[in-house]
Amino acid sequence: MNPIEIKKYLLSNAEEQQELFALSNNIREKHIGRNVYFRGIIEFSNICEKNCFYCGIRHDNENVERFRMDYDEIKECLRFIKQANFGSVVLQSGEMTSNGAKDYLLQLVDYIHLTYPEYGITISCGELDYDYLKSLKEAGATRYLLRIETSVRSLYSKLHPSDHSFENRMECLRNMKRLDYQVGTGNMIGIPGQTTDDLLADLRFFQEIDADMFGLGPYVIHEDTPLVNREIKRWWEENRQIIYNKTLNFIAVLRILMPTCNIAAATALDVFNPKGRTEALRVGANIIMPVVTPSMYRKKYLLYQDKPCIDENAEMCAMCTINKVKLAGLNTVLGVRGDSEHFKLSSIGRL
Ligand code: SAM
Ligand code: SF4
Repeated sequence: MNPIEIKKYLLSNAEEQQELFALSNNIREKHIGRNVYFRGIIEFSNICEKNCFYCGIRHDNENVERFRMDYDEIKECLRFIKQANFGSVVLQSGEMTSNGAKDYLLQLVDYIHLTYPEYGITISCGELDYDYLKSLKEAGATRYLLRIETSVRSLYSKLHPSDHSFENRMECLRNMKRLDYQVGTGNMIGIPGQTTDDLLADLRFFQEIDADMFGLGPYVIHEDTPLVNREIKRWWEENRQIIYNKTLNFIAVLRILMPTCNIAAATALDVFNPKGRTEALRVGANIIMPVVTPSMYRKKYLLYQDKPCIDENAEMCAMCTINKVKLAGLNTVLGVRGDSEHFKLSSIGRL
């Protein structure tokens, strides 16, 4: 696909959109088949040192009651993941760089790897330094997800305070590559001021960095954040359908451009349409992440408004996600890690 076609498809709806989805599905069938893999996600802490302008759990949001789960609570989640037979775990939190926070996460990864050596372990805890990333990898972490959010520097600087460095985020991604992680990144779609050319730049960036997996999703407003004022709120409400469509189109285009990568069906899509994640699977996503976080913490991990699954528990999320895969007409694959084919292929020949 050339850039003109990509832009056309990113904006498509109706027949043109169906044409795009047929294309992305063919590519999926050919390169990775119909399997969908599960990752139980544990949002273990909402404590964050950073202040991203869009995020509900940013440091300066005083309306958030902060928590960090203790090991016993996490062990309970891990037992559930084992019982549900998900095959992989994702540990997600705000960004914390104190020595105490680093030791806590390192010991946790060590425990998970020793107790469940068969699991794929994904970390999604923000920007971490090279040596610490190395320690996590040595302890058994296999994947790291760090969204670039937007690859366009000027837009990035509108979304973050000036001490949040775009360059550092890039460097972290490069470090993950050097350390042989399965590297995950992604963007938000529907950020105020984002153009179709910006999305095209994101796709180019994903190819250049040669990521193995993607966690990308629509931008959803959160009223307690600096990005949202009355005007933005109105704009966002009026453009909900466009943002939703664009996200599905983006996933489909990405599947065509990077056929063997893992792409997650983002929970945020369900804010726009209860069938959001099912649709994402239908058009090219192959990963789903049932929330395993204990119910009592879910309301405290509100990245954006109307976050789905906060009144549910782990059992309900497991059943619901399995149903979504069935509804999408794809194969529920339990008990295996479901590593990125792109990673496996690019590892061949690597020393
Ligand atoms: N703190 C880590 C980080 O920033 O990479 C991991 C957790 S953070 C909550 C995970 C992702 O949530 C971010 O990469 C961001 O894209 C997403 N997020 C935060 N606020 C959002 C919003 N208002 N709408 C959609 N996604 C949002
Ligand atoms: Fe913290 Fe991540 Fe939210 Fe930024 S997006 S404020 S780093 S939790």
